[in-house]
Amino acid sequence: MKDRYDVIVVGAGPGGSQTARTAALKGLDVLLIEKRQQIGDPVRCAEGVNKEYLKEYIEPDPAWISAEVKGSKIYSPDGTLVEMSEELSGAEVGYVLERKVFDRALAREAALAGAEVMVKTRATGLLMEGGFVKGIKAEHMGKKYTIKADIVIGADGVESRVGRWAGIDTTLKPKDMCTCAQYLITDFTIDPDFCEFFLGNKIAPVGYIWVFPKGNNMANVGIGITGHMSGKGKALELLDEFIVKRFPDCRKIELVVGGVPVSGTIDRTVANGLMLVGDAARQSDPVTGGGIFNAMWAGDIAGKVAANAIRRSDVSAESLQEYEKAWRAELGRDLDMSLVVKERFTRMTDYELNTLAHSLEGVDLGSTTLIGLVWALFKANKKLLWDLRSIFIGIKDIENEVKREVYS
Ligand SMILES: Cc1cc2nc3c(=O)[nH]c(=O)nc-3n(C[C@H](O)[C@H](O)[C@H](O)COP(=O)(O)OP(=O)(O)OC[C@H]3O[C@@H](n4cnc5c(N)ncnc54)[C@H](O)[C@@H]3O)c2cc1C
Repeated sequence: MKDRYDVIVVGAGPGGSQTARTAALKGLDVLLIEKRQQIGDPVRCAEGVNKEYLKEYIEPDPAWISAEVKGSKIYSPDGTLVEMSEELSGAEVGYVLERKVFDRALAREAALAGAEVMVKTRATGLLMEGGFVKGIKAEHMGKKYTIKADIVIGADGVESRVGRWAGIDTTLKPKDMCTCAQYLITDFTIDPDFCEFFLGNKIAPVGYIWVFPKGNNMANVGIGITGHMSGKGKALELLDEFIVKRFPDCRKIELVVGGVPVSGTIDRTVANGLMLVGDAARQSDPVTGGGIFNAMWAGDIAGKVAANAIRRSDVSAESLQEYEKAWRAELGRDLDMSLVVKERFTRMTDYELNTLAHSLEGVDLGSTTLIGLVWALFKANKKLLWDLRSIFIGIKDIENEVKREVYS
């Protein structure tokens, strides 16, 4: 470890490793630090990701793919099944990863691109000078270090402190945090080709239960409920209840607990000499809680922006607006729409959820587009269509049709 780099990335999750890799490929001198001794472990994830998205950044490798699925099965509270193709299933369905191996593979990519990777190295604070972040304070194997850099990138996950150290408000209210519990189970029967989702206010209030096949007769079975619905231990209690009913004879071989931000976008993700990426920037999806791909996507932009800013010798917050603008233009818009959907769905009764599922009977979900699906749903549920009209703003054809449908 040197005492100066162009860029220091804090956290070697998918966001941090992708940031470090891109920045290194752009010719920057990069340090990637990770507080844990083993990158990717312990896993706090259901490990689902869209394979087409992922291929944009990393060549698929059987070493980190546990299972490949064809789509998802969604069960409404009365058990009505809605089956969706992989394309319609969004960012969490396609591959079920082995994240312990996947996260390490991404860090390896960063290292191969030229980044220096340091494990067992925890950022403990920022070096500040004249209102600019100028590096980090860190601890490695009991020793304290100060390491300088032109830009620090906080990719330190849901419990991120880097943003707060730089004065960025990343606070989450209980309702903006999804509390998750998950078992890896074995010795049971499921369809290995589909990820399954179970909805209902009794089984998972303001959330859902997932069953993701992992191959070799194993699956991740987990629950996510928002913080304001979950008393101490509530998520695990509900998950145990579900497992007793659904997989009475299974064996549990791993337990994971963790949180995902479901707040939607925060006000800012840059400061002088600093950018935030992934869960640290609250870039995970408010409806699904999925954040692997979003973190990699934002990390890629942050790496490129870091190179541009250093090239023009301007790492001010104003210069780093290039990152803020770029990620908000696409991902930010998706997250905003997702938040609108989440806020409407959290008010839904089981009766409404069942009605929605029933309204999809007869729709060919193997061939319809996402817009087609959304449209089929909403046509049968005009009140919902009206409540969610803001997500169609800008899609003129649909905007006009919403008005026609609702007023007809
Ligand atoms: C139970 C559960 C299920 C989930 N399921 C899915 C899913 O199926 N699909 C999906 O897409 N997403 C899922 N997610 C969300 C997904 O795991 C995150 O969105 C994703 O990992 C975010 O990546 P990241 O790089 O931003 O942060 P992380 O992966 O959290 O990485 C942050 C890293 O920073 C390190 N770090 C933290 N502080 C410091 C410090 N001070 N110094 C050095 N290192 C530090 C941490 O040790 C960690 O390795 C799930 C989350 C949970 C909790």
